Amino acid sequence: MTDKTMHIGLDDTDSPRKGCTTYVAALLVEKLQRLEANFIDYPNLVRLNPNVPWKTRGNGALCLRIQYNESNEEKIKETVISTIEEQADLEYDGTDPGVVFFEKTKIPREVKTFAKKAITGIVNLKEALKLLKRFRAEALGFKKCRGIIGGLAAVGENLQGDHTFEILAYRIPENCGLKRRVDEISIVEMDKATTPYTFNNVDPETGRVLITPRGPDPIFFGIRGETPEIVKKAFQMVRPLEPVERWVIFRTNQGTDAHLKRAKQLSQIKPHHPVIAKGIVLEKPKIIPRRHVIFPIKDESAQVDCAAYEPTGVLRNVARKLIVQDYVEVYGGVRAPSQNLPLTINLEKIRLLKSVPKIVYHNPICLKCGKRLKSMGRNKGFRCERCGSKYTNLGKIEVEMKREIRKDLYITSLRSQRHLTKPLRRYGMEKRRASAKGLIEGWHFP
Ligand SMILES: [Zn+2]
Repeated sequence: MTDKTMHIGLDDTDSPRKGCTTYVAALLVEKLQRLEANFIDYPNLVRLNPNVPWKTRGNGALCLRIQYNESNEEKIKETVISTIEEQADLEYDGTDPGVVFFEKTKIPREVKTFAKKAITGIVNLKEALKLLKRFRAEALGFKKCRGIIGGLAAVGENLQGDHTFEILAYRIPENCGLKRRVDEISIVEMDKATTPYTFNNVDPETGRVLITPRGPDPIFFGIRGETPEIVKKAFQMVRPLEPVERWVIFRTNQGTDAHLKRAKQLSQIKPHHPVIAKGIVLEKPKIIPRRHVIFPIKDESAQVDCAAYEPTGVLRNVARKLIVQDYVEVYGGVRAPSQNLPLTINLEKIRLLKSVPKIVYHNPICLKCGKRLKSMGRNKGFRCERCGSKYTNLGKIEVEMKREIRKDLYITSLRSQRHLTKPLRRYGMEKRRASAKGLIEGWHFP
């Protein structure tokens, strides 16, 4: 009999030098199944607000949703806790793991709201503890316990709206830290065969493979896509050149823009709250040192700066071509004002809504010899340097230049996209609800 339901939320077990909370979840999939737990959903990988200054790498929290036999409850909890203790980088200063055991079938509205807030804004430990107490949930935190926040947020985000899948393959421990060995041609072929139902496999601008991370963590590679079937098919097309220890399919909010919240007015924009906002370009975009592009936008309520930070790539090129009076929608994280810099949106996307004509003014041509005239000063007319003719009644000629950008949506290059950024490939594929079909056969190994 598996009659009780539990949602197990985990966060902040990793550090830049070791580990990955998805790996802890992957180990627990195997261990909890041995304890006869039934998974009622794929493990959920919930990316939280990437704009939080103290975030963990990638800011991803995990939730395992299971049904189990009450007689195994203590063993399940002990297994979760001991696995975190074994795997977490507890000696690392910024690693403060947390786990939440939430034993309710239905997720309360308040916990869902808390999760949305953790994805789009800022939440604190006090709020999390208050909710845990109110709903009689158990939690365990290590050190500063920050992981409890993400753990509860992962419990609360049950991905009932738009969502995607990622299959994550892990390396054997002795390979962690070494260069990842995989047949890159097979990845390019996989991308071609599964497009547009998988995304962010290869950067089309550089040809670089994006599915393998760089760091010392145990992730070998991850493939993102629309359904569990397609990510599994894609996984089977990739030829690894080193052993795969295990793999698991996760359900996630990656690639859904879940972090971005629309601000009706620019005055509503707050630091560290990723935003979608509209405004009119107020000044010509400037290129600042390190080739970033900055421009201010305004509406009737306020003015903010927008910054395209990528050193190369799509967004910076688009930002450079904007002109005063263009009407744009901007998407991105918000940096707090500092020293002499105002509130700034770090752009992930720009949509050009209305473009104004680009007018340049030329001096007229000499009527006698055809040479372009020189101005003799403001409103003083023109003279010809070749034949000496003077013209006091001629004005400048207006010329409309071709705009180099169209009314369209522009997204930062794949290599600079956040986990949460919805890539172009996904537009039109958004899901309204979670599938009621249940899990596919063979969604993890072992
Ligand atoms: Zn002339």
